[in-house]
Amino acid sequence: MKKIRQVPLGGAIFVATMLFLLQGLVAGNEDQDSPKWAIVIHGGAGSTPKDSDSPRTRAKRAALKQALDAGVELLEKGGSSLDAVEVVIRILEDNPFFNAGKGAVKNARGQHELDASIMDGKDLSCGAVAGVTTVKNPISLARKVMTETRHVLLQGKGAEAFADQQAVDRVDNQDFSVSQFDSRKSPNSLPPQGDRSYKGTVGCVALDQQGHLAAGTSTGGLSGKKFGRVGDSPIIGAGTYANDATCGVSCTGTGEEYIRHAAAFTVSALMEFKGLPVDRAVSHVMRQRLKPGDGGMIAISKRGEICADYTTGGMAYALADSQGRSEVHWGDVESGLK
Ligand code: ASP
Repeated sequence: MKKIRQVPLGGAIFVATMLFLLQGLVAGNEDQDSPKWAIVIHGGAGSTPKDSDSPRTRAKRAALKQALDAGVELLEKGGSSLDAVEVVIRILEDNPFFNAGKGAVKNARGQHELDASIMDGKDLSCGAVAGVTTVKNPISLARKVMTETRHVLLQGKGAEAFADQQAVDRVDNQDFSVSQFDSRKSPNSLPPQGDRSYKGTVGCVALDQQGHLAAGTSTGGLSGKKFGRVGDSPIIGAGTYANDATCGVSCTGTGEEYIRHAAAFTVSALMEFKGLPVDRAVSHVMRQRLKPGDGGMIAISKRGEICADYTTGGMAYALADSQGRSEVHWGDVESGLK
């Protein structure tokens, strides 16, 4: 009969303790390898600029870099991802290069209707506004909806009345207009319906040093859109999503498709339920759910892995993390703006 070798109890305890310590060491190293903070922003997906060195293209890269830097400064100091997302998106909204805030495109009636949303991955709290016509920085109003009401989404006149209650800046609808850099000659001419090469929606995802994720998106919607049309940007789970357990996501593209596929939430769900890494989850949604040309998205995992993906000709985006990454991409040219 085969004799079973007895392992002395002391030895077994020693081996178990060593295994436990080793596991802790490996886990510790994994944390050390992860960035302490990370940020990624986008300025819309569409066609790529014809001339990567034109004044307009360079100015747009500089605008992305300026917004990114503001977020980096905040996160470096230990600020919250939620603040970083709001600060960055406000800067992009104030810049007429982008289809959000100041630079919002027009609907089919020649008016501007703006949408925005923001989400805190810490507790899934979120806020959004849709179809606002006079709110200077819709992202800040979205944040007020999140923090000052028990609701998630306010729209139109009600949202604007709420802006007044919260002393959020309002402007004349025609103040959202064309800039000196706009490609269209006449400020009153409409770009082709749904044209996304014109200017891009903006978004930001950030991970702070406390390990919290936040995401936000702001847009003027599709150019020439039907009066009253709302896209994915103010729809939590479609254009924006954040959950500390998985990732933060902000989308840009044909909003109707992103709504149909609950695009931002699906990235998080693939990570949570299928254990996919963030880049594979994003790629799955971009390629297996959405169609080629639908748009792009940016994401950050809870470990600080940054992902930017698109199926259009180009996407304006920029990213940075605590390990020294700092990149600005527009027209597939990595800018020298380090
Ligand atoms: N997703 C936006 C919308 O459908 C547009 C865009 O991102 O370009 O309203």
